[in-house]
Amino acid sequence: MIAVVPVRAGALPAGALETLAEAGGRALVVGEGTEQAAGSLLEDAGAVRLTRLEAGAFAPGRFARALGPLVSVEDVVLLPASPDGRDLAPRLAAELDRPLLAGAIRVGPGGATVVAMHGAQNVELSVDGPFVATLLPGARSPAPRRPGAPTPGVELSEPSPAPGEGPADAEVLGTLDPDPSAVDLSEAGRILAAGAGLPGEELARLFALGERLGAAVGATRVVTDAGLVAHDRQIGTTGVSVRPRLYVAFGVSGAAQHVGGLGEPDHVISVNLDPSCPMMAMADLAVVADAGATLRALAARLEERAGG
Ligand SMILES: Cc1cc2nc3c(=O)[nH]c(=O)nc-3n(C[C@H](O)[C@H](O)[C@H](O)COP(=O)(O)OP(=O)(O)OC[C@H]3O[C@@H](n4cnc5c(N)ncnc54)[C@H](O)[C@@H]3O)c2cc1C
Repeated sequence: MIAVVPVRAGALPAGALETLAEAGGRALVVGEGTEQAAGSLLEDAGAVRLTRLEAGAFAPGRFARALGPLVSVEDVVLLPASPDGRDLAPRLAAELDRPLLAGAIRVGPGGATVVAMHGAQNVELSVDGPFVATLLPGARSPAPRRPGAPTPGVELSEPSPAPGEGPADAEVLGTLDPDPSAVDLSEAGRILAAGAGLPGEELARLFALGERLGAAVGATRVVTDAGLVAHDRQIGTTGVSVRPRLYVAFGVSGAAQHVGGLGEPDHVISVNLDPSCPMMAMADLAVVADAGATLRALAARLEERAGG
Protein backbone atom coordinates (compact mmCIF):
# COMPACT_ATOMS: atom_id res chain seq x y z
CA MET A 1 0.00 0.00 0.00
CA ILE A 2 1.20 3.51 -0.72
CA ALA A 3 -0.16 6.94 0.24
CA VAL A 4 -0.37 9.60 -2.46
CA VAL A 5 -0.30 13.04 -0.84
CA PRO A 6 -1.14 16.03 -3.08
CA VAL A 7 0.45 19.26 -1.82
CA ARG A 8 0.14 22.95 -2.71
CA ALA A 9 2.96 25.44 -2.15
CA GLY A 10 4.70 23.00 0.18
CA ALA A 11 1.68 22.68 2.50
CA LEU A 12 0.37 19.27 3.51
CA PRO A 13 -3.38 18.67 3.19
CA ALA A 14 -5.61 17.66 6.11
CA GLY A 15 -5.19 13.99 6.88
CA ALA A 16 -1.72 13.62 5.32
CA LEU A 17 -0.14 12.10 8.43
CA GLU A 18 -3.01 9.69 9.05
CA THR A 19 -2.91 8.55 5.41
CA LEU A 20 0.83 7.98 5.62
CA ALA A 21 0.39 5.96 8.84
CA GLU A 22 -2.48 3.88 7.38
CA ALA A 23 -0.24 3.09 4.39
CA GLY A 24 2.46 1.76 6.69
CA GLY A 25 4.85 4.71 6.29
CA ARG A 26 5.22 4.80 2.47
CA ALA A 27 4.15 7.84 0.53
CA LEU A 28 4.50 9.61 -2.79
CA VAL A 29 4.25 13.37 -2.35
CA VAL A 30 3.03 15.12 -5.51
CA GLY A 31 2.48 18.75 -6.44
CA GLU A 32 4.20 22.04 -5.84
CA GLY A 33 6.80 22.46 -3.08
CA THR A 34 7.19 18.74 -2.48
CA GLU A 35 10.60 19.12 -0.82
CA GLN A 36 9.17 21.32 1.92
CA ALA A 37 6.08 19.10 2.30
CA ALA A 38 8.19 15.93 2.47
CA GLY A 39 10.33 17.64 5.13
CA SER A 40 7.23 18.32 7.24
CA LEU A 41 6.13 14.70 6.88
CA LEU A 42 9.55 13.45 7.95
CA GLU A 43 9.60 15.81 10.92
CA ASP A 44 6.14 14.82 12.13
CA ALA A 45 6.04 11.14 11.20
CA GLY A 46 9.65 10.07 11.83
CA ALA A 47 10.80 7.00 9.96
CA VAL A 48 9.04 6.80 6.64
CA ARG A 49 9.86 6.06 3.02
CA LEU A 50 9.01 8.95 0.76
CA THR A 51 9.27 9.69 -2.92
CA ARG A 52 8.44 13.01 -4.53
CA LEU A 53 6.99 14.11 -7.83
CA GLU A 54 7.46 17.84 -8.30
CA ALA A 55 4.56 18.50 -10.64
CA GLY A 56 3.62 22.19 -10.36
CA ALA A 57 0.21 23.65 -9.58
CA PHE A 58 -2.58 21.24 -8.70
CA ALA A 59 -4.11 19.71 -11.84
CA PRO A 60 -5.81 16.39 -11.04
CA GLY A 61 -6.09 15.16 -14.63
CA ARG A 62 -2.45 15.86 -15.39
CA PHE A 63 -1.30 14.50 -12.00
CA ALA A 64 -3.30 11.28 -12.47
CA ARG A 65 -1.75 10.69 -15.88
CA ALA A 66 1.76 11.10 -14.42
CA LEU A 67 1.09 9.09 -11.27
CA GLY A 68 -0.52 6.10 -12.99
CA PRO A 69 2.68 4.33 -14.06
CA LEU A 70 4.41 5.16 -10.75
CA VAL A 71 1.79 3.51 -8.52
CA SER A 72 0.39 0.80 -10.81
CA VAL A 73 2.36 -1.92 -8.97
CA GLU A 74 0.74 -1.02 -5.63
CA ASP A 75 -2.23 -3.13 -4.52
CA VAL A 76 -3.78 -0.20 -2.66
CA VAL A 77 -3.31 3.50 -3.43
CA LEU A 78 -4.55 5.66 -0.58
CA LEU A 79 -5.20 9.41 -0.64
CA PRO A 80 -6.38 11.74 2.11
CA ALA A 81 -10.04 12.71 1.68
CA SER A 82 -8.99 16.37 1.64
CA PRO A 83 -10.50 18.55 -1.14
CA ASP A 84 -7.53 17.90 -3.46
CA GLY A 85 -7.35 14.22 -2.47
CA ARG A 86 -11.04 13.85 -3.31
CA ASP A 87 -10.44 15.50 -6.69
CA LEU A 88 -7.41 13.42 -7.56
CA ALA A 89 -8.56 9.99 -6.32
CA PRO A 90 -11.34 9.31 -8.88
CA ARG A 91 -9.11 10.44 -11.74
CA LEU A 92 -6.32 8.20 -10.52
CA ALA A 93 -8.75 5.29 -10.13
CA ALA A 94 -9.92 5.83 -13.74
CA GLU A 95 -6.33 6.07 -14.94
CA LEU A 96 -5.51 2.76 -13.20
CA ASP A 97 -8.86 1.21 -14.17
CA ARG A 98 -9.60 0.33 -10.53
CA PRO A 99 -12.55 0.78 -8.18
CA LEU A 100 -12.52 3.76 -5.80
CA LEU A 101 -13.49 3.27 -2.15
CA ALA A 102 -14.22 6.83 -1.01
CA GLY A 103 -14.48 8.13 2.56
CA ALA A 104 -12.81 5.24 4.39
CA ILE A 105 -11.98 5.09 8.09
CA ARG A 106 -9.89 1.91 7.77
CA VAL A 107 -8.14 0.43 4.78
CA GLY A 108 -6.56 -3.01 4.38
CA PRO A 109 -5.31 -5.16 1.53
CA GLY A 110 -8.72 -6.69 0.76
CA GLY A 111 -10.99 -3.69 1.17
CA ALA A 112 -12.03 -0.84 3.44
CA THR A 113 -14.57 0.36 5.97
CA VAL A 114 -16.30 3.41 4.52
CA VAL A 115 -18.69 5.83 6.16
CA ALA A 116 -22.17 6.10 4.66
CA MET A 117 -25.36 8.07 5.35
CA HIS A 118 -23.56 11.15 6.70
CA GLY A 119 -21.68 9.15 9.29
CA ALA A 120 -24.65 7.14 10.55
CA GLN A 121 -23.36 3.84 9.17
CA ASN A 122 -20.03 2.10 8.61
CA VAL A 123 -20.01 -0.22 5.61
CA GLU A 124 -17.44 -2.99 5.06
CA LEU A 125 -16.44 -3.17 1.39
CA SER A 126 -14.39 -6.09 0.05
CA VAL A 127 -12.49 -5.81 -3.21
CA ASP A 128 -11.08 -8.70 -5.14
CA GLY A 129 -8.03 -6.98 -6.62
CA PRO A 130 -6.21 -3.65 -6.43
CA PHE A 131 -8.11 -0.44 -5.65
CA VAL A 132 -7.83 3.26 -4.83
CA ALA A 133 -9.27 4.66 -1.58
CA THR A 134 -9.57 7.95 0.28
CA LEU A 135 -9.15 8.14 4.07
CA LEU A 136 -11.24 10.63 6.05
CA PRO A 137 -9.09 13.14 7.98
CA GLY A 138 -9.32 12.43 11.70
CA ALA A 139 -10.43 8.81 11.16
CA ARG A 140 -7.40 7.48 12.98
CA SER A 141 -4.36 8.71 14.86
CA PRO A 142 -1.24 9.69 12.90
CA ALA A 143 0.72 7.03 14.81
CA PRO A 144 1.46 3.76 12.97
CA ARG A 145 -1.07 1.01 13.67
CA ARG A 146 0.83 -2.10 12.66
CA PRO A 147 3.83 -3.15 14.74
CA GLY A 148 7.04 -2.85 12.74
CA ALA A 149 5.65 -0.08 10.52
CA PRO A 150 6.59 2.42 9.31
CA THR A 151 9.54 1.27 7.28
CA PRO A 152 12.75 1.94 9.20
CA GLY A 153 15.02 4.50 7.66
CA VAL A 154 14.30 7.33 5.32
CA GLU A 155 14.63 7.20 1.59
CA LEU A 156 13.98 10.48 -0.11
CA SER A 157 14.15 10.24 -3.86
CA GLU A 158 15.14 13.03 -6.19
CA PRO A 159 12.11 14.69 -7.66
CA SER A 160 10.93 13.08 -10.85
CA PRO A 161 10.52 15.26 -13.93
CA ALA A 162 7.31 17.26 -14.10
CA PRO A 163 4.48 15.35 -15.70
CA GLY A 164 3.50 16.23 -19.24
CA GLU A 165 0.06 16.48 -20.73
CA GLY A 166 -2.94 14.68 -19.31
CA PRO A 167 -6.72 14.70 -19.52
CA ALA A 168 -8.32 18.16 -19.56
CA ASP A 169 -8.29 20.00 -16.25
CA ALA A 170 -10.45 22.90 -15.18
CA GLU A 171 -8.87 26.24 -15.97
CA VAL A 172 -7.91 28.04 -12.76
CA LEU A 173 -8.97 31.69 -13.05
CA GLY A 174 -7.77 32.68 -9.59
CA THR A 175 -7.31 31.42 -6.04
CA LEU A 176 -9.19 33.14 -3.22
CA ASP A 177 -8.03 33.01 0.40
CA PRO A 178 -10.56 31.08 2.48
CA ASP A 179 -12.79 32.92 4.91
CA PRO A 180 -11.45 31.43 8.16
CA SER A 181 -14.84 31.55 9.89
CA ALA A 182 -16.37 29.50 7.07
CA VAL A 183 -13.45 27.16 6.39
CA ASP A 184 -13.98 23.40 6.62
CA LEU A 185 -13.49 22.75 10.35
CA SER A 186 -11.47 19.61 9.73
CA GLU A 187 -8.82 21.76 8.02
CA ALA A 188 -8.78 24.71 10.42
CA GLY A 189 -5.51 25.40 12.23
CA ARG A 190 -7.23 27.54 14.87
CA ILE A 191 -10.65 26.91 16.33
CA LEU A 192 -12.79 28.89 18.77
CA ALA A 193 -15.45 26.65 20.27
CA ALA A 194 -18.75 27.55 21.87
CA GLY A 195 -20.17 25.39 24.66
CA ALA A 196 -23.33 25.60 26.71
CA GLY A 197 -21.54 27.99 29.08
CA LEU A 198 -21.41 30.69 26.40
CA PRO A 199 -24.76 32.51 26.12
CA GLY A 200 -26.38 32.35 22.66
CA GLU A 201 -26.33 36.14 22.32
CA GLU A 202 -22.51 36.03 22.41
CA LEU A 203 -22.20 33.78 19.35
CA ALA A 204 -22.12 36.64 16.84
CA ARG A 205 -19.21 38.10 18.81
CA LEU A 206 -17.44 34.72 18.75
CA PHE A 207 -17.75 34.54 14.94
CA ALA A 208 -16.46 38.13 14.66
CA LEU A 209 -13.51 37.26 16.91
CA GLY A 210 -12.82 34.18 14.78
CA GLU A 211 -12.68 36.34 11.67
CA ARG A 212 -10.30 38.73 13.38
CA LEU A 213 -7.97 35.96 14.64
CA GLY A 214 -8.12 33.84 11.49
CA ALA A 215 -9.88 31.07 13.39
CA ALA A 216 -12.86 28.88 12.51
CA VAL A 217 -15.78 28.54 14.92
CA GLY A 218 -16.98 25.17 16.21
CA ALA A 219 -19.44 24.13 18.90
CA THR A 220 -20.51 21.33 21.18
CA ARG A 221 -23.57 19.22 20.52
CA VAL A 222 -25.55 21.05 23.20
CA VAL A 223 -25.11 24.23 21.17
CA THR A 224 -25.85 22.70 17.76
CA ASP A 225 -28.87 20.76 19.10
CA ALA A 226 -30.23 24.05 20.41
CA GLY A 227 -30.08 25.34 16.83
CA LEU A 228 -27.65 28.12 17.75
CA VAL A 229 -24.86 26.94 15.44
CA ALA A 230 -25.19 24.76 12.31
CA HIS A 231 -24.71 21.02 12.80
CA ASP A 232 -21.74 20.94 10.41
CA ARG A 233 -19.85 23.00 13.04
CA GLN A 234 -20.32 20.35 15.77
CA ILE A 235 -17.02 18.90 16.94
CA GLY A 236 -16.97 15.36 18.30
CA THR A 237 -17.63 11.72 17.75
CA THR A 238 -20.98 12.39 16.06
CA GLY A 239 -19.77 15.62 14.47
CA VAL A 240 -16.61 16.71 12.71
CA SER A 241 -13.16 15.40 13.65
CA VAL A 242 -10.72 18.29 13.81
CA ARG A 243 -6.96 18.65 14.26
CA PRO A 244 -6.24 22.30 15.08
CA ARG A 245 -2.96 23.62 16.42
CA LEU A 246 -4.89 26.01 18.70
CA TYR A 247 -8.23 25.26 20.34
CA VAL A 248 -9.98 27.86 22.49
CA ALA A 249 -13.01 26.58 24.41
CA PHE A 250 -15.61 29.00 25.81
CA GLY A 251 -17.87 27.25 28.33
CA VAL A 252 -17.13 23.71 27.11
CA SER A 253 -17.11 20.95 29.76
CA GLY A 254 -14.94 18.57 27.70
CA ALA A 255 -17.22 15.51 27.52
CA ALA A 256 -15.62 12.40 26.02
CA GLN A 257 -17.87 12.62 22.94
CA HIS A 258 -16.61 16.16 22.30
CA VAL A 259 -12.87 15.70 22.90
CA GLY A 260 -13.04 12.41 20.95
CA GLY A 261 -13.13 14.56 17.81
CA LEU A 262 -10.52 17.05 18.88
CA GLY A 263 -7.26 15.41 17.84
CA GLU A 264 -4.19 16.57 19.72
CA PRO A 265 -4.00 20.37 19.54
CA ASP A 266 -0.60 21.92 20.32
CA HIS A 267 -2.33 24.49 22.54
CA VAL A 268 -5.65 24.39 24.38
CA ILE A 269 -7.13 27.41 26.13
CA SER A 270 -10.27 26.89 28.18
CA VAL A 271 -12.51 29.52 29.76
CA ASN A 272 -14.87 27.99 32.30
CA LEU A 273 -16.37 28.70 35.73
CA ASP A 274 -15.60 25.14 36.83
CA PRO A 275 -11.83 24.76 37.39
CA SER A 276 -12.05 20.98 37.65
CA CYS A 277 -13.98 20.04 34.50
CA PRO A 278 -12.16 17.85 31.90
CA MET A 279 -11.67 20.71 29.41
CA MET A 280 -9.83 22.74 32.07
CA ALA A 281 -7.74 19.69 32.96
CA MET A 282 -6.53 19.31 29.36
CA ALA A 283 -5.89 23.05 28.88
CA ASP A 284 -2.44 24.66 28.70
CA LEU A 285 -4.11 27.86 29.84
CA ALA A 286 -7.18 27.39 32.05
CA VAL A 287 -9.03 30.66 32.70
CA VAL A 288 -11.55 30.43 35.56
CA ALA A 289 -13.97 33.14 34.48
CA ASP A 290 -17.32 33.81 32.87
CA ALA A 291 -17.10 32.85 29.18
CA GLY A 292 -19.26 35.71 27.87
CA ALA A 293 -17.42 38.35 29.93
CA THR A 294 -14.02 37.00 28.85
CA LEU A 295 -15.07 37.02 25.21
CA ARG A 296 -16.31 40.61 25.48
CA ALA A 297 -13.08 41.68 27.21
CA LEU A 298 -10.95 39.97 24.56
CA ALA A 299 -12.94 41.56 21.72
CA ALA A 300 -12.66 44.99 23.39
CA ARG A 301 -8.89 44.57 23.86
CA LEU A 302 -8.44 43.67 20.19
CA GLU A 303 -10.64 46.62 19.19
CA GLU A 304 -8.45 48.94 21.31
CA ARG A 305 -5.29 47.59 19.71
CA ALA A 306 -6.69 47.98 16.22
CA GLY A 307 -7.63 51.56 17.07
CA GLY A 308 -4.30 52.60 18.25
C1 LIG B 1 -24.12 9.25 21.54
C2 LIG B 1 -23.68 10.64 21.91
C3 LIG B 1 -22.92 11.33 20.98
C4 LIG B 1 -22.48 12.63 21.27
N1 LIG B 1 -21.72 13.31 20.36
C5 LIG B 1 -21.27 14.53 20.67
C6 LIG B 1 -20.43 15.26 19.77
O1 LIG B 1 -20.13 14.81 18.65
N2 LIG B 1 -19.99 16.47 20.15
C7 LIG B 1 -20.31 17.03 21.36
O2 LIG B 1 -19.86 18.15 21.64
N3 LIG B 1 -21.10 16.37 22.22
C8 LIG B 1 -21.58 15.15 21.91
N4 LIG B 1 -22.39 14.51 22.79
C9 LIG B 1 -22.82 15.23 23.98
C10 LIG B 1 -21.78 15.22 25.07
O3 LIG B 1 -21.92 14.06 25.85
C11 LIG B 1 -21.93 16.44 26.00
O4 LIG B 1 -23.25 16.48 26.48
C12 LIG B 1 -21.63 17.77 25.32
O5 LIG B 1 -20.39 17.73 24.65
C13 LIG B 1 -21.55 18.86 26.38
O6 LIG B 1 -21.50 20.11 25.75
P1 LIG B 1 -21.07 21.40 26.58
O7 LIG B 1 -19.69 21.22 27.07
O8 LIG B 1 -21.37 22.56 25.72
O9 LIG B 1 -22.16 21.44 27.74
P2 LIG B 1 -22.06 21.05 29.34
O10 LIG B 1 -21.51 19.70 29.46
O11 LIG B 1 -23.39 21.35 29.83
O12 LIG B 1 -20.96 22.03 29.85
C14 LIG B 1 -21.14 23.40 29.94
C15 LIG B 1 -19.86 23.95 30.57
O13 LIG B 1 -19.97 25.36 30.64
C16 LIG B 1 -19.49 25.78 31.92
N5 LIG B 1 -20.16 27.03 32.21
C17 LIG B 1 -21.45 27.25 32.60
N6 LIG B 1 -21.68 28.56 32.69
C18 LIG B 1 -20.55 29.18 32.36
C19 LIG B 1 -20.17 30.54 32.25
N7 LIG B 1 -21.02 31.54 32.50
N8 LIG B 1 -18.90 30.83 31.88
C20 LIG B 1 -18.00 29.84 31.62
N9 LIG B 1 -18.30 28.54 31.71
C21 LIG B 1 -19.58 28.23 32.07
C22 LIG B 1 -19.83 24.67 32.86
O14 LIG B 1 -18.97 24.69 34.00
C23 LIG B 1 -19.59 23.45 31.98
O15 LIG B 1 -18.27 23.00 32.09
C24 LIG B 1 -22.84 13.23 22.52
C25 LIG B 1 -23.58 12.50 23.44
C26 LIG B 1 -24.00 11.23 23.13
C27 LIG B 1 -24.81 10.47 24.15
